[in-house]
Amino acid sequence: MKRVFKDTTIITMNSNRECYQDGGLVVEDATISKVGRVCPEDLATADEVISLPGRVILPGLVNTHVHTSQQLARGLGDDVSVFTWFYNRIWPFESHMTEEDSYISTLLSACELIRSGVSTFAEAGGQYINGMGKAVTQAGIRGILTRSVMDIGEGPMKMLDPVEKLMASQEEMLDLWHNQANGRIKVWFALRTLLNNSEKLVLKTFQLAEKHGVGVHMHLSEILEEVEVIRKRAGFSPVGYLAQLGALVPYLLAVHAVWLSEEDINLLATHDVKVSHNPAAALRVLGFPKVTEMMARGICVGLGTDGAPSNNRMNILDEMWLTTLLHKGRLHDPMAMPAETVLQMATIDGARCLHWENEIGSLEKGKKADFVVLNPNTVGMMPVHDLVSNIVNSMHSDNVESLVVDGLFVLKEGKILTIAEDDVIKESGERARAIAKRAEIHLTPRFPLC
Ligand SMILES: [Zn+2]
Repeated sequence: MKRVFKDTTIITMNSNRECYQDGGLVVEDATISKVGRVCPEDLATADEVISLPGRVILPGLVNTHVHTSQQLARGLGDDVSVFTWFYNRIWPFESHMTEEDSYISTLLSACELIRSGVSTFAEAGGQYINGMGKAVTQAGIRGILTRSVMDIGEGPMKMLDPVEKLMASQEEMLDLWHNQANGRIKVWFALRTLLNNSEKLVLKTFQLAEKHGVGVHMHLSEILEEVEVIRKRAGFSPVGYLAQLGALVPYLLAVHAVWLSEEDINLLATHDVKVSHNPAAALRVLGFPKVTEMMARGICVGLGTDGAPSNNRMNILDEMWLTTLLHKGRLHDPMAMPAETVLQMATIDGARCLHWENEIGSLEKGKKADFVVLNPNTVGMMPVHDLVSNIVNSMHSDNVESLVVDGLFVLKEGKILTIAEDDVIKESGERARAIAKRAEIHLTPRFPLC
């Protein structure tokens, strides 16, 4: 199948950051065979020619930190302390979910990812890779799936397991799902947080990740209490502790990385650890990570939304906007974190965080055909004086007209083709209420109910 997309603006995000006006893209099956100008021969040999005047094509966006299983818990963690959030709301909710709940939760999450132009995401760790894998296969997007693991601490008992059992189940899922769905699904190992992970579990995780040639997805230096507990337990900061264990490696994706010393930043840079920045979660509860300082040291930083109960908006476009605002505000510098840097974080650097940059993250010959078609002609995005700035600072989901992943439309002219969106929305509400009831989570109404 050969498709030609033409008469459109193309932002490639290749190493020279080349853009084309009235450009074209040739896609053969799942792969890009040409970017830039199309010739009469391309048109003559194409199975389909799609003209997109006034539209903009850019690489599919990469969301480096998503809790698909928490999608049904949106709104359950608002205006409460971080510990109420963990112990009384989200962990009980997650531990009362079934595999079918995880499937529906992931489908709902996928709809929101697709509508925000995300072609690839990394799961932070749900309990049911089978449920997530089934949903991602259907949704048609790319996902790196993980199972969240805990073996110590005060997590809900249902989620705590011995190290051997945790490692065996993750290896079983890797055998089952890694490189499935035409290579769209990968499976990594995950560590939830050092507060809930023993030294034995950390060491075993990195040992097996290296053996299987996959990454490790981990919340790290997320909250101040984590730093205090690990200092007391091990005598180091969380980053320093991982360094001592030999666990600072290029295939570690450290999520949040908020509470870092200068020495911690040096360690992350030296070991080429990748970082996922989640600005909404940072603003809401975690604190202000030194992202510009990390990037100045050469650390690769991608963007993430975190989960629905930490953010409420699972929209990477909002995270792009927040990223540029957060660091301008934090540094009192309107030139800090310019739009082109943020777009880089949401595309090619996100792909680097996931060790997938050889196939995705930019529009180049030989890479996978993963791209967003934007329609900038909306009240929220017009006029366009500076396209890249508008994409980062003004774009909303209603500008995402189509999304192509692996050469196939998953969203076409505003309609999701792979998921019955209305049915999923309806079923999600019913399932979410049932899980909350099973977990005995009862919210006090904000206003008297009459
Ligand atoms: Zn998270």
